[in-house]
Amino acid sequence: MGRTLEDGAAAGRAPAARAATVRSLKRSLDSSTRSAAVFRLTRAEERRLVSAARGGERRALDRLLQLLSGPVYRFGRGFCGDPHDAEDVAQVTLAALARSLHGFRGESSLTTWAYRVARNACTRQRRRRAQAPARLESLDAGTPARPGALQVADPREDPHRALERTELRDALQRAIAALPPSQREVLVLRDIEGLPAKQVGEALRLSERAVKSRLHRARIALRERLAPYAPNAKAPPRCPDTARLVSRYLEGELDAEACAKLEHHVKGCPDCGATCATLKGALVTCRSWRGEKLPERIRTSLRQAIRQLVAEARGRP
Ligand SMILES: [Zn+2]
Repeated sequence: MGRTLEDGAAAGRAPAARAATVRSLKRSLDSSTRSAAVFRLTRAEERRLVSAARGGERRALDRLLQLLSGPVYRFGRGFCGDPHDAEDVAQVTLAALARSLHGFRGESSLTTWAYRVARNACTRQRRRRAQAPARLESLDAGTPARPGALQVADPREDPHRALERTELRDALQRAIAALPPSQREVLVLRDIEGLPAKQVGEALRLSERAVKSRLHRARIALRERLAPYAPNAKAPPRCPDTARLVSRYLEGELDAEACAKLEHHVKGCPDCGATCATLKGALVTCRSWRGEKLPERIRTSLRQAIRQLVAEARGRP
């Protein structure tokens, strides 16, 4: 025992802390999205940059590619599950964007388009590896010192807890890597990148309904794989399907009455409380990845690639 999910929502806390688990989960996710120190390109800014870049403004092209480099790298990292593949995917995607910007008609957002290109690049990358033995590396771009380049060390944190956090993050990364690709891509865009379900559907050419149904399955699978990290969290036969209901609640699919009923059950049932806490730990961690800086080596290599793409763009009519 002793290992509980991070962020204080963990099971095993005083019942009072667990009281409003279901509703508080939505609040934590919303606030972690807002506080993520990530610039999200608005459609208006995007249009302005695209049109300036097409007009030959090198600084606009440079800025556009810089802004997209984080999202495409993170998508590749989450979807390919391999930092080296993710780097290749980001390079290929940025090059494709720079070269075909003149043909971009603005029907969907450029960011959506970028995810689509990155996804195709990931799929090709995976096919190439299909014969090779499976590699289940950490999603963190490895450094020799500690394969956790994306970890943010908190100097106040005690070492024991830091170890637990690392273990859980690694377990979460393995759980994401083990999802079928059709669920993984939805989870990465919705729960790591924080895109609304509608935009996830646009990027993956899926209906919003299909996005949500895959998302629920992905979250339930994560919860199950992380169950060993939460005390209780067996699924008692007479309980509601808590993980699915919580996921549906997060996507606005539960009415107020169903939500109140769920909340009431979770408050009185330690097992479902633990299920809810595991899911919360997983999703809050997913969301927090978006706010973390890319490893320095990756940033340097993408910056170099962008510089070259901008220089090449100047030579084109
Ligand atoms: Zn229950």
